Amino acid sequence: MFHQPMTFEHALDLRSELGTDATVINGGTDVVVAMNHGAIKPTTFIDVSRIKALRGIEKQNGHLIMGAGVTFADLGKMHFRALREASLSVGGPAIRNMGTIGGNIATASPAGDGCVALLAMNAEVQLSSKARGDRWMPLVDYFIDYRKTALADDELIKAVRVHNNPRSRWYKIGKRGAVNISLVCCAISQNENNKTELAFGCVGPIPKVAPKASALLTGETLTPELIDDVANLVTHEVAPIDDQRGTATYRRAMCSTLTKRLLTQLMEDAPKGDADA
Ligand SMILES: Cc1cc2nc3c(=O)[nH]c(=O)nc-3n(C[C@H](O)[C@H](O)[C@H](O)COP(=O)(O)OP(=O)(O)OC[C@H]3O[C@@H](n4cnc5c(N)ncnc54)[C@H](O)[C@@H]3O)c2cc1C
Repeated sequence: MFHQPMTFEHALDLRSELGTDATVINGGTDVVVAMNHGAIKPTTFIDVSRIKALRGIEKQNGHLIMGAGVTFADLGKMHFRALREASLSVGGPAIRNMGTIGGNIATASPAGDGCVALLAMNAEVQLSSKARGDRWMPLVDYFIDYRKTALADDELIKAVRVHNNPRSRWYKIGKRGAVNISLVCCAISQNENNKTELAFGCVGPIPKVAPKASALLTGETLTPELIDDVANLVTHEVAPIDDQRGTATYRRAMCSTLTKRLLTQLMEDAPKGDADA
C-alpha cells in the first residue's frame, strides 16, 4: 500500500494510525538502497514527498527554518557555508535532487553530512505527532546511539532550524573526493559572540560534537596557539573505529588536521567581517 498524503496533517494521521507498520519515504535515497540490500522489506509506505509545506525555507525570529523535505540541491544554494558545502558533497546531482535533510536526520548515519553541518550550527529539530503536536529539540539530543534517535513511532520530522548568522566552515575526506561517503568530515561554526561549535562525522556511532573543544574556544579570539590546543584536544573527544574505509588512527589524526585547517580559515577570514561568504 502506497499512501501519498498531500498535507502534513494527513501524513501525521497516517503515521499515528499505521505506526511502525508503515515506512516513511521522501527522496528514497536511503530507503530504496536498504530495500535493494534486503535490509528492509516494507509493504506499506507513507510518501511525504508531495507535501509542499515540508519543502519551504523561511526566516523567523533570527532563525532560518528548513522543512524536512528540503533537498540537498536546495541547501546547496544557501548562504551558510558549512551547510552549503556539506550538501554539495552529498552523492551526485541526482542524489542531491532527491535526498532531503529530513531523511538524512532520520537515517542518523554517523556519516550523515547534513547532520554534521547542522550539529556544528547548533541546530534544533522539530518533531511532530498527531497526539502531542510539535516539539523542538536540540539536534545534539536527538541522536541517541547508532541509528537510534529520539523520533517516536508516531512522529515525523517537520523541520530543522538554525540561527541566521553563524560563520562556518566544512571539510570532508572521502576516498573518491566529494561523491562518496565520508571517511571523516568536520564542520565548525562561530556566532557573533565568539561561541564556536565543532562537529565530526564517522568518528563514533552518531554524528558527534566536541563539547570540550568548543568550551576551550568559547569567547576566545582565535590564535595559532589556541588552535593547536584545540586540535590536540579533539583527538580525545572522538571515538572512531577501524572499518573497510579507514583506520581509527587515521581518522583521529584527520580530526585534528581538519580542526586546525578550518579554525585557521575562520581566524584568517575574521578581520574582513565576512558573513559566511
Ligand atoms: C549514491 C548515494 C550517495 C550518497 N551519498 C551521501 C553522502 O555523501 N552523504 C550523506 O550524508 N548521505 C549520502 N547518501 C544518503 C542519502 O542521500 C541521505 O541520507 C538523504 O539525506 C536521505 O534523504 P531521503 O529523502 O532520500 O530519505 P529516504 O530514503 O526517503 O528516507 C530515509 C529515512 O528517513 C525517514 N524519513 C524520511 N523523511 C522523514 C520525515 N519527514 N520524518 C520522519 N522520517 C523520515 C525514512 O523513513 C527513512 O528511515 C547517499 C545515498 C546514495 C544512494
